[in-house]
Order: sequence, then C-alpha cells, then structure tokens
Amino acid sequence: MTPPRSGRGRDRSWRSRPTVPDERPVLRTCVGCRKVRDRRELVRLAFDPAKGLILGPQRPRGRGAYLCRSAACLEKAWHRKALPRAFRREMSGVDGSVLRELFEAELRPIAR
Ligand SMILES: [Zn+2]
Repeated sequence: MTPPRSGRGRDRSWRSRPTVPDERPVLRTCVGCRKVRDRRELVRLAFDPAKGLILGPQRPRGRGAYLCRSAACLEKAWHRKALPRAFRREMSGVDGSVLRELFEAELRPIAR
C-alpha cells in the first residue's frame, strides 16, 4: 500500500497556517484567588518604577498581574504580597489605600 506520489510534493498546506481563532480565550490566573479566567474578565495591573501602578488595558512594558474584578481578590493579593511577587520587584512607594482606590476606580465602568 504505497500512497501515490503527487509529484509536486508541496501541496500540503504548510504555508496556509491557520491563525489562532479569536474565540479562543486567553487564560490568566488571578493573583488573588488563583482562579484561571478569561483575560477579558480580569483587571491587568502592572508596576512601572517611574509611573507607579498602572491598571487597566494599557500594555506597559514589564510584568503584569491579573486580578478578578473584585475588591476581595485585591485584598487577598495584597495580604499575600502576591503583587510584588508577580511584578518581580518591590512596589516601593505604593500603599494599600492608593492601590484600592485605583482598583475601585478601574472597576467602575464610568467614572463619576
Ligand atoms: Zn480572583
């Protein structure tokens, strides 16, 4: 049982590599409760030593951390010091109340 040779040998669609479909969720782990969720359901946090904490969908350089849109997860992450661990750096100059304020502002869909 020898399969017939096509002769051309290049018509296996190597080149038309399918792109990853959009509906495939990008999963990230919440650093608060450790649940894995779709990235779109999470708030991204990053820490830039020059700018401080950056929340939301911006894409700053550096490592990010993800949290559920829940203040409880922020609390857990804060108490476990999960954020500096995720950022791989000390969060110098950031205190918990500032972080909470930023986070809660991010949870509100419309700023008032
Ligand atoms: Zn969570």
